[in-house]
Amino acid sequence: MKEFVIVNQNNIWYGMFPTLHEAGFLHACSCRLHGASAIVPETLNLALHVGDDAELVLRNRRAFAQAVGVNAERITTCQQVHGSKVVRVTEELIGSGALDFSTTIKDTDALITNLPDVPLMLFYADCVPVLLADVESGAVGLAHAGWRGTVANIGAKTVAAMGEAFGTKPSKLLAAIGPSIGVCCYEVDDFVRDQASGYEEFFAFKGGGKYQLDLWGVNAKQLLEAGVPKENIMVAGVCTNDNHQLFCSYRAEQGKTGRMGVCLSARKNYEE
Ligand SMILES: [Zn+2]
Repeated sequence: MKEFVIVNQNNIWYGMFPTLHEAGFLHACSCRLHGASAIVPETLNLALHVGDDAELVLRNRRAFAQAVGVNAERITTCQQVHGSKVVRVTEELIGSGALDFSTTIKDTDALITNLPDVPLMLFYADCVPVLLADVESGAVGLAHAGWRGTVANIGAKTVAAMGEAFGTKPSKLLAAIGPSIGVCCYEVDDFVRDQASGYEEFFAFKGGGKYQLDLWGVNAKQLLEAGVPKENIMVAGVCTNDNHQLFCSYRAEQGKTGRMGVCLSARKNYEE
Protein backbone atom coordinates (compact mmCIF):
# COMPACT_ATOMS: atom_id res chain seq x y z
CA MET A 1 0.00 0.00 0.00
CA LYS A 2 1.30 3.46 -0.85
CA GLU A 3 1.85 5.63 2.21
CA PHE A 4 0.25 8.73 0.69
CA VAL A 5 -2.13 9.18 -2.22
CA ILE A 6 -3.90 12.10 -3.90
CA VAL A 7 -7.62 11.69 -4.49
CA ASN A 8 -10.35 13.75 -6.13
CA GLN A 9 -13.86 14.08 -4.75
CA ASN A 10 -16.30 16.43 -6.59
CA ASN A 11 -13.33 18.21 -8.16
CA ILE A 12 -11.76 18.86 -4.74
CA TRP A 13 -8.30 17.31 -4.61
CA TYR A 14 -6.61 16.23 -1.42
CA GLY A 15 -3.95 13.90 -0.14
CA MET A 16 -4.50 11.13 2.38
CA PHE A 17 -2.79 8.20 4.07
CA PRO A 18 -4.59 4.93 3.20
CA THR A 19 -3.35 3.22 6.39
CA LEU A 20 -4.92 5.96 8.53
CA HIS A 21 -8.12 5.77 6.50
CA GLU A 22 -8.33 1.97 6.84
CA ALA A 23 -7.95 2.36 10.59
CA GLY A 24 -11.10 4.49 10.58
CA PHE A 25 -9.70 8.01 10.83
CA LEU A 26 -11.25 10.63 8.57
CA HIS A 27 -8.51 12.99 7.43
CA ALA A 28 -7.30 15.01 4.44
CA CYS A 29 -4.49 17.31 3.34
CA SER A 30 -6.03 19.80 0.93
CA CYS A 31 -4.57 20.61 -2.46
CA ARG A 32 -4.79 24.17 -3.72
CA LEU A 33 -6.64 23.43 -6.96
CA HIS A 34 -10.04 24.82 -8.00
CA GLY A 35 -10.92 27.19 -5.17
CA ALA A 36 -12.56 30.58 -4.90
CA SER A 37 -9.71 32.49 -3.21
CA ALA A 38 -8.90 36.12 -3.93
CA ILE A 39 -5.36 36.08 -2.48
CA VAL A 40 -4.16 33.67 -5.15
CA PRO A 41 -7.00 33.49 -7.67
CA GLU A 42 -8.78 30.21 -8.21
CA THR A 43 -6.98 28.42 -5.40
CA LEU A 44 -8.41 26.66 -2.40
CA ASN A 45 -6.99 28.74 0.43
CA LEU A 46 -8.54 27.46 3.68
CA ALA A 47 -7.06 29.93 6.18
CA LEU A 48 -8.84 33.02 7.47
CA HIS A 49 -5.68 34.76 8.73
CA VAL A 50 -3.75 35.38 5.51
CA GLY A 51 -5.60 38.41 4.13
CA ASP A 52 -7.98 36.52 1.87
CA ASP A 53 -11.67 37.42 1.54
CA ALA A 54 -13.36 35.64 4.48
CA GLU A 55 -16.51 34.77 2.52
CA LEU A 56 -14.42 33.11 -0.18
CA VAL A 57 -12.40 31.18 2.40
CA LEU A 58 -15.60 29.92 4.00
CA ARG A 59 -16.88 28.89 0.59
CA ASN A 60 -13.63 26.94 0.06
CA ARG A 61 -13.95 25.34 3.49
CA ARG A 62 -17.52 24.22 2.80
CA ALA A 63 -16.47 22.64 -0.50
CA PHE A 64 -13.50 20.91 1.14
CA ALA A 65 -15.55 19.75 4.13
CA GLN A 66 -18.24 18.34 1.86
CA ALA A 67 -15.69 16.48 -0.27
CA VAL A 68 -14.00 15.00 2.79
CA GLY A 69 -17.26 14.27 4.58
CA VAL A 70 -16.92 16.49 7.65
CA ASN A 71 -19.14 19.20 9.09
CA ALA A 72 -17.71 22.64 8.20
CA GLU A 73 -19.35 24.31 11.21
CA ARG A 74 -17.63 21.95 13.63
CA ILE A 75 -14.14 22.52 12.21
CA THR A 76 -11.93 23.41 15.16
CA THR A 77 -8.76 25.44 14.66
CA CYS A 78 -6.00 27.14 16.63
CA GLN A 79 -3.97 30.28 16.15
CA GLN A 80 -0.59 28.66 15.26
CA VAL A 81 2.08 30.91 16.71
CA HIS A 82 5.11 28.63 16.14
CA GLY A 83 4.97 27.59 19.77
CA SER A 84 4.40 24.15 21.25
CA LYS A 85 1.25 24.45 23.34
CA VAL A 86 -1.21 21.57 22.99
CA VAL A 87 -4.93 22.04 23.78
CA ARG A 88 -7.56 19.37 24.31
CA VAL A 89 -10.72 20.13 22.35
CA THR A 90 -13.72 19.59 24.61
CA GLU A 91 -17.42 20.17 23.82
CA GLU A 92 -17.27 23.92 24.49
CA LEU A 93 -14.36 24.42 22.06
CA ILE A 94 -16.02 22.70 19.10
CA GLY A 95 -16.18 25.05 16.12
CA SER A 96 -13.49 27.46 17.39
CA GLY A 97 -12.31 29.42 14.38
CA ALA A 98 -14.72 27.63 12.04
CA LEU A 99 -16.47 30.77 10.82
CA ASP A 100 -14.42 33.62 12.27
CA PHE A 101 -10.71 33.81 13.05
CA SER A 102 -11.39 35.77 16.26
CA THR A 103 -12.75 32.61 17.88
CA THR A 104 -9.75 30.42 17.08
CA ILE A 105 -7.99 28.82 20.06
CA LYS A 106 -5.26 31.29 21.03
CA ASP A 107 -1.50 30.74 21.38
CA THR A 108 -1.74 27.09 20.41
CA ASP A 109 -0.05 24.91 17.79
CA ALA A 110 -1.49 21.46 18.43
CA LEU A 111 -4.97 20.11 19.16
CA ILE A 112 -6.09 16.77 20.53
CA THR A 113 -9.55 15.30 20.95
CA ASN A 114 -11.45 12.07 21.41
CA LEU A 115 -14.77 13.57 20.30
CA PRO A 116 -15.92 12.16 16.98
CA ASP A 117 -17.35 14.47 14.32
CA VAL A 118 -14.97 17.25 15.34
CA PRO A 119 -12.59 17.90 12.46
CA LEU A 120 -9.43 19.37 13.90
CA MET A 121 -7.98 21.62 11.22
CA LEU A 122 -4.63 23.35 11.00
CA PHE A 123 -3.13 25.38 8.15
CA TYR A 124 0.17 24.99 6.39
CA ALA A 125 2.38 26.34 3.63
CA ASP A 126 5.71 24.50 3.98
CA CYS A 127 5.46 23.81 7.76
CA VAL A 128 5.08 20.17 8.76
CA PRO A 129 1.68 18.64 9.60
CA VAL A 130 1.97 15.86 12.18
CA LEU A 131 -1.14 13.66 12.42
CA LEU A 132 -1.53 11.23 15.31
CA ALA A 133 -4.23 8.60 15.68
CA ASP A 134 -4.71 6.23 18.61
CA VAL A 135 -5.95 2.96 17.12
CA GLU A 136 -7.04 1.79 20.57
CA SER A 137 -9.11 4.72 21.90
CA GLY A 138 -9.88 6.44 18.59
CA ALA A 139 -8.45 9.77 19.86
CA VAL A 140 -6.42 12.02 17.58
CA GLY A 141 -3.85 14.80 17.68
CA LEU A 142 -2.77 17.29 15.04
CA ALA A 143 0.33 19.48 15.30
CA HIS A 144 1.87 22.35 13.37
CA ALA A 145 5.61 21.88 13.23
CA GLY A 146 7.65 24.56 11.51
CA TRP A 147 11.28 24.61 12.56
CA ARG A 148 10.48 26.32 15.86
CA GLY A 149 7.75 23.87 16.78
CA THR A 150 9.95 21.00 15.67
CA VAL A 151 12.87 22.17 17.81
CA ALA A 152 10.38 22.52 20.70
CA ASN A 153 9.46 18.84 20.15
CA ILE A 154 5.80 19.54 19.50
CA GLY A 155 5.14 16.06 18.10
CA ALA A 156 6.31 14.35 21.28
CA LYS A 157 4.43 16.91 23.40
CA THR A 158 1.26 16.04 21.51
CA VAL A 159 1.88 12.32 22.10
CA ALA A 160 2.34 13.04 25.83
CA ALA A 161 -0.81 15.17 25.97
CA MET A 162 -2.82 12.32 24.41
CA GLY A 163 -1.37 9.99 27.03
CA GLU A 164 -2.51 12.25 29.85
CA ALA A 165 -5.93 13.00 28.39
CA PHE A 166 -6.92 9.67 26.89
CA GLY A 167 -4.48 7.12 28.25
CA THR A 168 -2.98 6.80 24.78
CA LYS A 169 -0.08 4.39 24.59
CA PRO A 170 2.54 5.56 22.08
CA SER A 171 2.82 1.96 20.85
CA LYS A 172 -0.81 2.21 19.66
CA LEU A 173 -0.33 5.40 17.67
CA LEU A 174 -0.29 5.78 13.93
CA ALA A 175 1.69 8.89 12.98
CA ALA A 176 1.71 10.65 9.63
CA ILE A 177 3.88 13.49 8.41
CA GLY A 178 2.04 15.41 5.71
CA PRO A 179 3.18 17.38 2.66
CA SER A 180 5.64 20.11 3.66
CA ILE A 181 9.00 21.51 2.63
CA GLY A 182 11.57 18.78 2.06
CA VAL A 183 15.28 18.66 2.77
CA CYS A 184 15.71 19.26 -0.98
CA CYS A 185 14.44 22.84 -0.64
CA TYR A 186 14.63 23.86 3.01
CA GLU A 187 17.70 26.01 3.42
CA VAL A 188 18.36 27.41 6.88
CA ASP A 189 21.26 29.22 8.53
CA ASP A 190 23.42 28.90 11.64
CA PHE A 191 20.74 30.59 13.73
CA VAL A 192 18.40 27.64 13.24
CA ARG A 193 21.10 25.01 13.63
CA ASP A 194 22.35 26.57 16.88
CA GLN A 195 18.89 26.07 18.38
CA ALA A 196 18.54 22.47 17.27
CA SER A 197 21.18 20.74 19.34
CA GLY A 198 20.85 16.98 19.24
CA TYR A 199 19.58 17.05 15.65
CA GLU A 200 22.85 17.84 13.83
CA GLU A 201 22.49 14.72 11.68
CA PHE A 202 19.50 16.32 9.93
CA PHE A 203 21.45 19.42 8.81
CA ALA A 204 23.44 18.99 5.60
CA PHE A 205 26.12 21.69 5.46
CA LYS A 206 26.21 23.65 2.20
CA GLY A 207 28.89 26.19 3.04
CA GLY A 208 28.60 29.87 3.88
CA GLY A 209 26.71 29.22 7.11
CA LYS A 210 23.87 27.51 5.22
CA TYR A 211 22.34 24.07 5.68
CA GLN A 212 19.59 21.94 4.19
CA LEU A 213 17.35 20.89 7.07
CA ASP A 214 15.36 17.66 7.03
CA LEU A 215 12.29 18.51 9.11
CA TRP A 216 10.62 15.20 8.24
CA GLY A 217 13.60 13.35 9.66
CA VAL A 218 13.66 15.36 12.89
CA ASN A 219 9.93 14.92 13.45
CA ALA A 220 10.08 11.20 12.72
CA LYS A 221 12.98 10.78 15.15
CA GLN A 222 11.10 12.65 17.87
CA LEU A 223 8.03 10.47 17.41
CA LEU A 224 10.20 7.37 17.53
CA GLU A 225 11.82 8.60 20.75
CA ALA A 226 8.35 9.26 22.16
CA GLY A 227 7.59 5.58 21.69
CA VAL A 228 5.73 5.45 18.38
CA PRO A 229 6.83 2.25 16.58
CA LYS A 230 8.96 2.88 13.50
CA GLU A 231 6.57 0.91 11.28
CA ASN A 232 3.70 3.17 12.42
CA ILE A 233 5.35 6.39 11.26
CA MET A 234 4.33 7.38 7.73
CA VAL A 235 5.88 10.17 5.71
CA ALA A 236 4.04 11.61 2.71
CA GLY A 237 7.39 12.52 1.19
CA VAL A 238 5.85 15.33 -0.85
CA CYS A 239 7.81 18.59 -0.91
CA THR A 240 5.47 21.60 -1.05
CA ASN A 241 8.12 23.84 -2.59
CA ASP A 242 8.67 21.40 -5.47
CA ASN A 243 4.93 20.82 -5.83
CA HIS A 244 3.63 24.35 -5.34
CA GLN A 245 1.15 24.02 -8.17
CA LEU A 246 -0.56 21.36 -6.07
CA PHE A 247 0.16 22.48 -2.48
CA CYS A 248 0.65 25.89 -0.92
CA SER A 249 4.30 26.86 -0.45
CA TYR A 250 5.35 29.98 1.41
CA ARG A 251 8.86 29.81 0.00
CA ALA A 252 7.92 29.05 -3.60
CA GLU A 253 5.42 31.91 -3.64
CA GLN A 254 7.54 34.36 -1.63
CA GLY A 255 4.99 34.59 1.15
CA LYS A 256 2.01 35.53 -1.02
CA THR A 257 0.14 32.30 -0.66
CA GLY A 258 -2.89 30.71 0.89
CA ARG A 259 -2.72 27.78 3.27
CA MET A 260 -3.55 24.16 2.77
CA GLY A 261 -5.80 22.73 5.44
CA VAL A 262 -5.07 19.44 7.13
CA CYS A 263 -8.02 17.96 8.94
CA LEU A 264 -8.27 14.92 11.18
CA SER A 265 -11.23 13.54 13.12
CA ALA A 266 -11.35 11.13 16.03
CA ARG A 267 -12.81 7.70 15.31
CA LYS A 268 -16.05 6.67 16.88
CA ASN A 269 -15.34 3.63 19.00
CA TYR A 270 -18.12 1.30 17.96
CA GLU A 271 -17.04 -1.36 20.43
CA GLU A 272 -18.10 0.82 23.35
ZN1 LIG B 1 11.88 20.22 -2.44
